[in-house]
Amino acid sequence: MDAISYERAGDVAGAVRAAQQPGAVFIGGGTNLLDLMKGGVARPVRLIDITHINGLDTVTTLPDGGIRIGALVRNSDAANHALVREQYPLLSQALLAGASAQLRNMATVGGNLLQRTRCGYFYDTAFTQCNKRMPGSGCAALDGHNRTHAILGASPQCIAVNPSDMSVALAALDAVVRVSGPAGERTIGFADFHRLPAERPDVDTTLQPGELITAVDLPPPLFSAHSHYLKVRDRASYAFALVSVAAALQMDGERVQTARIALGGVAHKPWRASAAEQLLNGQPLTQATLKNAAAAALSDARPQHDNRFKVQLAQRAIVRAVNQAAGLAGGVA
Ligand code: SF4
Repeated sequence: MDAISYERAGDVAGAVRAAQQPGAVFIGGGTNLLDLMKGGVARPVRLIDITHINGLDTVTTLPDGGIRIGALVRNSDAANHALVREQYPLLSQALLAGASAQLRNMATVGGNLLQRTRCGYFYDTAFTQCNKRMPGSGCAALDGHNRTHAILGASPQCIAVNPSDMSVALAALDAVVRVSGPAGERTIGFADFHRLPAERPDVDTTLQPGELITAVDLPPPLFSAHSHYLKVRDRASYAFALVSVAAALQMDGERVQTARIALGGVAHKPWRASAAEQLLNGQPLTQATLKNAAAAALSDARPQHDNRFKVQLAQRAIVRAVNQAAGLAGGVA
């Protein structure tokens, strides 16, 4: 059994200071970290408990009309907060689509951003090939079971997907992640927060060592009237997405003023479907335009041998989610 020390941080500065010690990791809700530790995937030497830091568990309004969600706000509290429900229903839907009620009651917003892939080869240490767990060892999923794996942005080093529902909505909403670290405070645009695997699949985010997520900022709500989160999964509850779509629209009658579309379950990070957005922006929302946009979103897809179905599934999910966001009944592709 490995010895693990425990330290309770009283404030952000103390947490950042404690995290400079070798083998230290922050623990919030612990819903993913404890699974990783029990499975021998993560072996931290020191746990820095951040759950008693004041001021990180609130949702507040910002001067520009946006909101700030503290990193320690529980997923269930964020989903059910009046400001989130009324002004960012896309985020509320995505949060409620994730995990189970019990897990949402424990999991924090900051921890949700950092949850690791659910690739089975990553979690099962009996498999000796996993570049994410053991850099340089190979990738068992390439020739193994890869039905749930990536179709966009993967590398020969890793084809895992990011499992977060919340992050897909935050990508569509252009959120900003606030962090505090040894070099001070900084903000990271959401598109730059998670990484593609490239040559370093062991690194999931652009956080620097010892940096603590303190909050997520959302810009003023432009999409509250027209948004929809669609999650396609193998069973109706407590399953990760095969494909998910966060669709947010600003409509001018039947014309799309601005479209935001992000995909989950398809890549190592929440995937903004920029090509699809460009084809929809300024256009009347016809089904032909929408299908073209959905096809463009997947034009770079490179599926694996078990997950070719995801390409068409993602296209259909985009069509359905955008129709639902626009308020068009049915919305079935
Ligand atoms: Fe490991 Fe990534 Fe390959 Fe899964 S897909 S086995 S996480 S390297």
